[in-house]
Amino acid sequence: MKGKVAAMTGVREIEIKEYEVPKAEKGSVIMEVIKSNICGSDVHMWEGKHLFKNHVLGHEMVGRITDLGEGVVTDYAGEEVNLGDRIVPVYYLTCQKCEACLNGHFNICTHGSDYQGQLAEKYPHFTGGFATHYVVHSNQYFYKVPDNVPDNVAAGANCGISQMVYAMDISGLKINDTIVIQGAGGLGLFAAAISNTMGANVIVIDSVGSRLVDAKKFGANHVIDMREMDTVEKRIEEIKRLTNGKGADFVLDVAGVPAAFDEAVRIAKIGGTILELGNVSIDESQSVSILPGLITRKCLTVKGILRYQPWYLHKTLQFLEKYNDKYPFNSLTDRTYSLNESQLALHKAATKEVTRAIIEPNKEE
Ligand SMILES: [Zn+2]
Ligand SMILES: [Zn+2]
Repeated sequence: MKGKVAAMTGVREIEIKEYEVPKAEKGSVIMEVIKSNICGSDVHMWEGKHLFKNHVLGHEMVGRITDLGEGVVTDYAGEEVNLGDRIVPVYYLTCQKCEACLNGHFNICTHGSDYQGQLAEKYPHFTGGFATHYVVHSNQYFYKVPDNVPDNVAAGANCGISQMVYAMDISGLKINDTIVIQGAGGLGLFAAAISNTMGANVIVIDSVGSRLVDAKKFGANHVIDMREMDTVEKRIEEIKRLTNGKGADFVLDVAGVPAAFDEAVRIAKIGGTILELGNVSIDESQSVSILPGLITRKCLTVKGILRYQPWYLHKTLQFLEKYNDKYPFNSLTDRTYSLNESQLALHKAATKEVTRAIIEPNKEE
């Protein structure tokens, strides 16, 4: 049987290619892709701002098992799997042999991106989500999706939500602590919902009105509009006012701009913690000056967090099973496209004409 993939052939160029769908090898699983989200990093890759080239795009997907390789009888949580089950794979590999893996940092496995980034021409071809099928590698965690979690929500479970569940879980955030979230994009909204369930006082900062409205729906107790509070000083004063003078125990940077880190250092209270996730570029143009003395004098803790430990995808699916109805996770996707429309969908996502586009690769046109 043949299947199709949307492969990058150049910057802002996509070609639909056809390949024979392989049989599942020992330890691997073949799934038919039901839905695949367009994530901000897919747009970055399409725009050529990422090292991957000529690979199959897409990494946030949910699919249905069509073939099980020898030895695969359960998912990575020990739940029995059968043909037809809905599953979500972690989007990166864990080789178990590199320095990071040997020290338990599976989230930063040196070979984590090898599979996702490989050329579309290379076997097994179905290595990205914008495709009719996907081959779950034998070194790739995957989990069954709870019945009440809709496809649109499950498709995004393996990226932003898992990253936030992981970040909040290892942050040290406790009941009644104040967390200030810089940025109310998808990551900020997920973080608001998760810290709300943990009993924290949640303050979200952004400069887009509709995002601040969403932040309230996702559990923010207070929002700060940067258009009104237009200096760092004003925002620090407002945070003090909202916390009876105590300040921010935690500052989570998911704004995606270097200046947010400088502001986080200024906002965090004495003994506070900064969680840095929003700045991922290591390009020199993305540097910023900070006052290191503030980190010393306030005894701040700074934690950088990339991806998530793979088993957090399971915790995330359980979180969604429990809270899917409480917060409007399902409202975040606003347009669905076919596989042939991948190019159009990426264009719409890049120009922000749609908030979150989703590809339905097996949809009849
Ligand atoms: Zn993603
Ligand atoms: Zn590794």
